[in-house]
Amino acid sequence: MRLANLAGRLVLVDGDRALDVERSSGGTFSSDPQSVYERWDEFRAWAQTASLAGAEGFDPRQLCSPVPTPRQLFAVGLNYRDHVDEVGLAHDVPVVFTKYVSSIAGPYDDIPHPGGHVDWEVELVAVIGRGGHGIREEDAWSHVAGLTIGQDISERITQHVGVTPQFSLGKSFPKFAPMGPVLVTPDELDDPDDVALETVVNGETVQSSRTSFMTSSVSRLIAQLSSITTLLPGDVIFTGTPSGVGLGMVPPRYLNVGDELVTRIEGVGELRNRIVARQGVA
Ligand code: ZN
Repeated sequence: MRLANLAGRLVLVDGDRALDVERSSGGTFSSDPQSVYERWDEFRAWAQTASLAGAEGFDPRQLCSPVPTPRQLFAVGLNYRDHVDEVGLAHDVPVVFTKYVSSIAGPYDDIPHPGGHVDWEVELVAVIGRGGHGIREEDAWSHVAGLTIGQDISERITQHVGVTPQFSLGKSFPKFAPMGPVLVTPDELDDPDDVALETVVNGETVQSSRTSFMTSSVSRLIAQLSSITTLLPGDVIFTGTPSGVGLGMVPPRYLNVGDELVTRIEGVGELRNRIVARQGVA
């Protein structure tokens, strides 16, 4: 099953057509894309029997984040061995931070350049369906509603200023968390623990890896996070990025106004975002 947020309304996606969930369910389910995760099991059961006969063509440019307003957004740093080597920060446990939810953007949104050193990080994003505390690793996939693509855009000066690094602020400028274009349920993928992911800047592939190279798999991350905090329906987990970020290049390379950032994950699709000049600050 593929779900999306079409101009603020929840839709089921079938190829290039979309079915409005609120209308086709006779109001059983809300049009609000975020609220579906609260009733995930019930929704899934309905969606499996829903007729797609009423699906209509749509403009992909109207897609927004399939998870627009999660209560918690976790992000994991240094979760690919090659990226750890690249930035020279060895560690034994995942580094966890947040991207504040005001930074969430759609799959094709423009991203204002805030100044500084703006970098890219392709990431597989897991969205929680059934929440929980103390979720066992072997049960973890059953708590995942689906997977989507995320770009963990990062301004490296803000990230590293201060006595200790403060990842969260440097990764939370407006539109720094584009997600989409759809949410894909794990059963749609041959192996949800091994999908290809890449970042392409102005046509040049700068990151290319597979999620099987993660230090902590999706299920392990869910077990680790929920051993401490309670995961809620609709929560978002950015699962870390492989090597090839601009910070790790010699010399470092960052995004400029006018650059086109394409972010792909096998079986999910692609984000396509352009870096634009920041408008006047109010
Ligand atoms: Zn990241």
